[in-house]
Amino acid sequence: MFGGGAWSIGRIASIELAVDHTWVIIFLLVTLSLGARFQFSHESWSTLLTWSTAVATSALFFASILLHELGHSLVAQRLGVRVRSITLFIFGGLAQLDSEPRRPRDELLIAAAGPLVSVFLGLAFVLASRVSAGAGGLGAVAAESFAWLGRINLIVAAFNVVPGFPLDGGRVLRGILWGVTGSFERATAIAAFSGSLFAYALIGSGIFAALLAGQLLGGLWLVFIGWFLLSAARATVDQMMIERILEVARAGDAMESVRDACVSGSETVAELASEAVLRRGLRTFYVVDSQGRLRGLVTLKELAQVPTGERGTLCLEDVMIPVDRLEVLAPDDDGWAALRRMSERAVNQLPILEDGRLLGALTRERLLALVQAQLALGTQPAGPARRAD
Ligand SMILES: [Zn+2]
Repeated sequence: MFGGGAWSIGRIASIELAVDHTWVIIFLLVTLSLGARFQFSHESWSTLLTWSTAVATSALFFASILLHELGHSLVAQRLGVRVRSITLFIFGGLAQLDSEPRRPRDELLIAAAGPLVSVFLGLAFVLASRVSAGAGGLGAVAAESFAWLGRINLIVAAFNVVPGFPLDGGRVLRGILWGVTGSFERATAIAAFSGSLFAYALIGSGIFAALLAGQLLGGLWLVFIGWFLLSAARATVDQMMIERILEVARAGDAMESVRDACVSGSETVAELASEAVLRRGLRTFYVVDSQGRLRGLVTLKELAQVPTGERGTLCLEDVMIPVDRLEVLAPDDDGWAALRRMSERAVNQLPILEDGRLLGALTRERLLALVQAQLALGTQPAGPARRAD
């Protein structure tokens, strides 16, 4: 999600576990600050003991974050929401759910599960710290590590229950508002607004700490977290608006004519290649038969893959992607479903067929223009309301 990519570290209950490249930064920062802390408070510890304790404590902290996300994920899967992956990144952990929860109660349960895991871990580490403190020797070292882990897990829980979306508390708030008002959209908008307020508060206190209280790094960190929460809250509202607008758009109404892009299967690659240059701007061609039925699709990529020497003899029929391997739309498909399918296939347009006949194509640009027009008009489309029971 930050463009850097991620390493896969395993799989639990068919959920992919991964660490984003940005996570290395936070792991190093946490480990360094723990090392400095132990060095300061336990001068008798050897350098090796100090730093191995710091690394182990840091690793246990991120394992705790994974368990927090796993709490959300296992409850989500139990309630029928598929979880694709859990990723550790610079600002913590992220469970990627395939869809929004279907009912307010589900949202509440999924959101609450994470902080509950953190509270449980926090208390367990505090208890472990008490027990090992009495053991002496290495037990005292473990007690120090467990005490920190107990505190930090309780802090993680407390931070996450702040009622501002996208934090867990914000999701609980959304679940409650959704149940009370019956409107998923309004609940999301209010929870995201509350999340933005909290984000601004974090940014404000971060700036204060950095400039006036002399805590440059800690202050900057708060600013970054606030900025991250703010953009996540905005993105959620934007996506919801787009989804709402596109859900009521029919592919058949928004389609564009592809008459200029229709070609015959018996045409040679060379013929189309020279034509493609003449028909500037066209990158996709539809191979149709005499009845107007779609037989396949050719893009510049397929044309370019044919060696120059064979372009005069090979026909489009030989190089096209046949229709049964294409993602196609029906005139009644909605715009949101169409956009999702374009994203999954990484294509910019999809042909629209009726009884095998090619009617036209739906493009990303057209969907985007539709969203922009709707937003500019400021009207709310009468969409199919999400079920709130
Ligand atoms: Zn959480």
